[in-house]
Amino acid sequence: MTMIASTSYIKGFTMTEDQTNTQDVEDDNWLNRQRITCPACQRPLERIDHSPFIDYHYLYCDTCPIHVEVCYYDETFQALDQAASRENDSHTSLMRVIEARLKPCACGGSFKHDAPRRCFTCHAPVIIDDAAGIDLWPPEEEVDEEQEAEWWPRFTRADDLWRDTL
Ligand SMILES: [Zn+2]
Ligand SMILES: [Zn+2]
Repeated sequence: MTMIASTSYIKGFTMTEDQTNTQDVEDDNWLNRQRITCPACQRPLERIDHSPFIDYHYLYCDTCPIHVEVCYYDETFQALDQAASRENDSHTSLMRVIEARLKPCACGGSFKHDAPRRCFTCHAPVIIDDAAGIDLWPPEEEVDEEQEAEWWPRFTRADDLWRDTL
């Protein structure tokens, strides 16, 4: 199989021969958007790599499908980020610091960057291993504007994030 220059350019890395053979790579799918099925209730879901163009960290509840959205421009986040980079901390340790500061979920669970991604219908864990950097959504064609208006506030929290302000 011949490697297409544009593919490796868009994906930002050069693929090995082995990967080109085993992966069906499309030019327009550089975030690895993929239809999956909940193993418990068989509802369709969509997994996608967290886009570098989204200015938010998503951290997922360890008990239910809710996630928090921490904006890169959030004051508390920026203070934590600056403190972490002064200490040369890794992305994972920055995430752990953020996790410790976030208010618990409405369900009582805690938000973790690497918590399993859960089905919105039955709450079963769907993406369990190496979940960090992966987002789970309802399939695009199933969510019209009206449903999205209902879905978003149900499964996301974008304000009142912190236990206390700095
Ligand atoms: Zn399910
Ligand atoms: Zn929860």
